[in-house]
Amino acid sequence: EAPTSPPRSSPNILVTGTPGTGKTTTAEMVALAAGLEKVTVGDLVKERGLHDGYNEEYDTYWLDEDKVVDEMEPMMAGGGVCVDFHTCEFFPERWFDLVVVLRAETSRIFDRLEARGYKSNKVQENVECEIMQVVLDEARESYKPEVVMELHSNTVDDMESNVEKIVAFVEEFRARNQ
Ligand code: ADP
Ligand code: MN
Repeated sequence: EAPTSPPRSSPNILVTGTPGTGKTTTAEMVALAAGLEKVTVGDLVKERGLHDGYNEEYDTYWLDEDKVVDEMEPMMAGGGVCVDFHTCEFFPERWFDLVVVLRAETSRIFDRLEARGYKSNKVQENVECEIMQVVLDEARESYKPEVVMELHSNTVDDMESNVEKIVAFVEEFRARNQ
């Protein structure tokens, strides 16, 4: 049997979901409350040029997935990282101890993305993405069922209870692996 590396003492967590579900807000609160590093993949892609140019139609970058994985690998190695991104299937499965999929009612996605000034085709695409539960299906296809946690993110109360659940996971994980 191949030697395995020791278990991480602090978990890596992915917060994923359709744009507007509350990933960045939730991940920031979790990182602060649980003492995790936060990696916002969208910012990393922009700052470090991990893309193949700009997609004018959708106001977004064409992701270079291999570059993103190579860049993140050393960050993930030590554990204790909370990652925020709207897609999840190209990350190595071994990186994450918990994959949180945030869900929201489509009217809320619509309102939040309009408020953010997204073009109407981009709002529409993301609303459809949420209706079709694209990210949830992707997470279920890419990670073990016991790793995937689907959470509703419609209200501020939802967000608070989601943060509590994720922080509780971090604390249990640390207690198990210290
Ligand atoms: P994402 O990173 O998934 O695109 P954000 O965290 O940027 O989403 O949230 C988008 C907007 O919606 C922000 O203004 C945020 O405050 C709001 N929001 C997100 N989740 C909730 C929630 N559960 N309840 C109320 N407002 C929320
Ligand atoms: Mn975000």
